[in-house]
Amino acid sequence: MKLKKILPIILCLLLSACSGSAPEEYSYDFFAMDTYMSLTAYGDNAEKGVKAAAGRIAELTLMLSVTDENSELSAINRGGVAKVSEETAGLIAFALDIADKTDGALDPTVYPVLRAWGFTADQNRVPAPEEISALLKNIGHEHVQVDGNTVALDKGMMLDLGAVAKGYAGDETERILRENGITSALINLGGNIQLVGSKPDGTDWRLGLKDPAGTGNIGVLTVSDCAVVTSGSYERCFTAEDGTVYGHIIDPASGYPADNGLISVTIIADEGRLCDALSTALFVMGEECALEYWRENKNFDVILITDNAEVLITGGAADKFQLDSAYGNLTVKVVEE
Ligand code: AMP
Ligand code: MG
Repeated sequence: MKLKKILPIILCLLLSACSGSAPEEYSYDFFAMDTYMSLTAYGDNAEKGVKAAAGRIAELTLMLSVTDENSELSAINRGGVAKVSEETAGLIAFALDIADKTDGALDPTVYPVLRAWGFTADQNRVPAPEEISALLKNIGHEHVQVDGNTVALDKGMMLDLGAVAKGYAGDETERILRENGITSALINLGGNIQLVGSKPDGTDWRLGLKDPAGTGNIGVLTVSDCAVVTSGSYERCFTAEDGTVYGHIIDPASGYPADNGLISVTIIADEGRLCDALSTALFVMGEECALEYWRENKNFDVILITDNAEVLITGGAADKFQLDSAYGNLTVKVVEE
């Protein structure tokens, strides 16, 4: 895995001074899953917990990478069928379940098209329409079979867990930190944030929600004990010769980068893998379908930034978000149930 480019960090921790005697703090920054990651834990065992969690993320990177030919995922993609670990099979089954629930907006078989756009190799190009329509024949989550630990694909298909792997790594990191007795930690996996408990002084964490169009934060989310994951078209995108900007999230129905009026989708929920899967899926769906999905499920909160300068927030997150006064051009609206 190469150090290709620095992913913009979507959410950043807003530092604030805390008073009183500080507990032990241990931070570790590293590169994994093609992005920069940072773990900070507080209390006894902070260093031990963080090192164990970082080791676990390295293991998951080796198992789940679509570009590393030694990964379990590559074994499936090479042979069309492979016996993999229970964990990899479980994450594939989870992605297929969300694919089913989102009518294929999330689709872990979109890889052949993604590769044609050059996103995995950092050699971006605009494929010809005929090339895309030929590749779309090999896309479809309903053609993946998971039977115990054996995963089988129809001919020509390939799997990519890029939309859920970091979220799952967040869940594993949280599990390991808690196993080590840690009750306060900030997990930042390339912008996927997972919060263990509250800050060491007992107050909520303050996360900056990044301005998709600039360098500032449009506002602050004040939250604890949850995962917060953002997907956006402004991350990992490229500009074609005609000036069109193409993002890395593909609409599996068309084979083209999703362009449905959303600039970013932030999901807030307990589980990192759910946040990760839904941030990608709802980005593909666009505003109307995304909000309909929220109304039908409600096991998460969502913040949508639209290309007509609206910030749409569902009820559970509305009182946790504060718009920065410098972003008066944005209209914040609480989504009706
Ligand atoms: P995220 O940054 O979590 O939104 O995930 C984006 C990554 O997931 C991309 O870099 C691709 O590897 C992969 N991907 C892109 N579009 C989709 C899609 N519609 N369904 C599943 N995975 C996708
Ligand atoms: Mg995702």
